Amino acid sequence: MISQDFIDMENEFGANNYKPLDVVLCRGEGLWVWDVEGNKYLDCLSSYSAINQGHCHPRILKAMMAQAKKLTLVSRAFRTDQLGPFYKEICELTHSHSVLPMNSGAEVVETAIKAIRKWGYTEKRVPDGKAEIIVCDNNFHGRTLTIVGFSTEKQYREGFGPFTPGFISIPFGDSEAFERAITPNTVGFLVEPIQGEGGVIVPPAGYLKSIREICDRNNVMLVLDEIQTGLGRTGKLFAEEHEGIQSDLTLVGKALSGGFYPISAVLSNKEVLSVFKPGDHGSTFGGNPLGCAVAREALKVLVEENMIGNAATMGEYFMKQLNEIDSSHIKEIRGKGLLIGIELKHESGGARRFCEALQKEGILCKETHQHILRLAPPLLIQKETIDWALERIERVLAIP
Ligand SMILES: *Cc1c(COP(=O)(O)O)cnc(C)c1O
Repeated sequence: MISQDFIDMENEFGANNYKPLDVVLCRGEGLWVWDVEGNKYLDCLSSYSAINQGHCHPRILKAMMAQAKKLTLVSRAFRTDQLGPFYKEICELTHSHSVLPMNSGAEVVETAIKAIRKWGYTEKRVPDGKAEIIVCDNNFHGRTLTIVGFSTEKQYREGFGPFTPGFISIPFGDSEAFERAITPNTVGFLVEPIQGEGGVIVPPAGYLKSIREICDRNNVMLVLDEIQTGLGRTGKLFAEEHEGIQSDLTLVGKALSGGFYPISAVLSNKEVLSVFKPGDHGSTFGGNPLGCAVAREALKVLVEENMIGNAATMGEYFMKQLNEIDSSHIKEIRGKGLLIGIELKHESGGARRFCEALQKEGILCKETHQHILRLAPPLLIQKETIDWALERIERVLAIP
């Protein structure tokens, strides 16, 4: 079968909730993926940062194969020899007190919402049913009903109501707006350190520090969604480290398994998670031994293969070289580490056609918010490959 056959099959039988590029991939290794015709591409999306460690990393593959032969799932009715070591290793690496594993990103967002609400009622003594959570305009935290209910993206909400109450949205990057929005019933602030899906929006310097202070002063839990920015993507283990702060709850997912398996976690720096009592929350697959074994190795790979430091140096190089490109389409280049956004001018007619042109040049990326090209290759990229990519990006940005 050729690409078109697979595309037709997807279109005939699948729900129509995606608009992918017409490239049918069948193999991946490190930075590269191949389509069914044998064409090779540099992956500059990294599955929205789930593939920070590169495609099919041999060490993670080995850990997964070994665990898959031993034990994959027992539910949380019983204990396994993977869960404790996973807890200990991730808490030590991230300086957390405790951890709660789930499967997807949206599930840990939901978990955090439940945790801070319950904390609000039992510890902060907010009147029953009155807890408020502050979020930011232009946020992306996933696709469940509660989460899309506090999205400011019209398409994410339209036709899906009614929604969960109790959320207030404020401008991102504006700490004064945050402080003004706090009431005695505010239990938490849920925010991305850099808005990834929102278009790689980097807040002003000092923002994280200042929201940390405001949270402390008002007894409000700071929940950082690091599902996309965490685990090395921005050149630090967590983006919060750029300003030397610690959240109360940190959410991780995506690269936690290096792309092999859906696993996510809530990491708790305070005792918030201790509000959960047996039976309050759970998930059949959450914390299963296969996922734990994969995550343990994926974290080791990030650290032992210096992917985090590499993301910092290569990200800086990539951004510097991108800034040298002289193109009338470019409005702004921004980002941190290897999370880079190129915002194109509106008169350039949208980023999609540039993604299609990049595909022809052997680079896969995806537009976000119509006018923004996001560049986020796996964290193992080296200078030679960046130079190779720059040549092609420059060529594509020169088309009229
Ligand atoms: C991808 C993402 C999510 C949702 O993760 P899923 O695994 O798709 O549910 C939540 N928050 C951020 C910041 C993300 O990038």
